[in-house]
Amino acid sequence: MELCIDFGGSEIKLGILHRGAPAHTEAIPTGADDLARVADAARTLIDAAATAPQSVGIAVPGVVDRTAGRLVKAHDKHPHLSGLDLIAWADSSFDLPATVENDARAALVGETATGSASGARNAVLMTLGTGIGTAAVIDGVLLRGAHDHAGILGGHLTVDINAALCNCGNVGCAESIAGAWAIRRDLATRGDAITDVREMVAAAVAGDTAAAALFDRAVRAWGATVVSLCHAYDPEVVILSGGIMRAGSVIAAPIEAYVREHLWTSSHRPAFVIPDRPDLSVLRGLSVLAAENHP
Ligand SMILES: [Zn+2]
Repeated sequence: MELCIDFGGSEIKLGILHRGAPAHTEAIPTGADDLARVADAARTLIDAAATAPQSVGIAVPGVVDRTAGRLVKAHDKHPHLSGLDLIAWADSSFDLPATVENDARAALVGETATGSASGARNAVLMTLGTGIGTAAVIDGVLLRGAHDHAGILGGHLTVDINAALCNCGNVGCAESIAGAWAIRRDLATRGDAITDVREMVAAAVAGDTAAAALFDRAVRAWGATVVSLCHAYDPEVVILSGGIMRAGSVIAAPIEAYVREHLWTSSHRPAFVIPDRPDLSVLRGLSVLAAENHP
């Protein structure tokens, strides 16, 4: 069994899983004292599961140094985790070995190992949560690169060179236009009664023209990101995951339509899948990765 912890942008998910299969899960809100609360919540979960996990998987929404077990950079997300030795934290908190991974990369492992794209050897994933996470696997090899940055910065591909600077330093990143934090920022700037992505989508579907314009802009940014991922990595399947994808086809269908319209003409048209439980993709992948740490 594996204890898995997903430090998401708005909540932290915890789970006891067995090689990708969830047994017990729960979520707690993010806060300034995350690590102490997570350790307490994890011990309660372990007691409730009446089983002893053999390893720990930890996901963070940014670039990780897996060897050092550290979050290297995650602009504006979990700043108190930055540089912290999470392997040492897991050792002192649970007396267990730990694996630390980028959250989108973990989600891709979860979905290709046991989930919605089970067995896929060429796949890309875009996860829509507080930010936009991406990951890619080519010929069965998870992309990591020389410094663990490969594949995971798709949310920071430029989709509008005339847009403002992103918090990462690049211009017109998809995340700075259509990440949930950016959409919430734009709604607040307008003084809109709608405050989050789900409300925006529901209002757009109900015929609110201002919400529909914002939704359309977000769809084009999400779609342009997937087009670029397909051009770069030539996947057979595109996985759309993350908390926002709990809305399902109302978001996935226009993204898929945008991608099919704009792909390089001879490109293979990939299948699109949404996990049954997009909120659990990361935990399931962490479980698979952490299981490599025990017999
Ligand atoms: Zn950026």
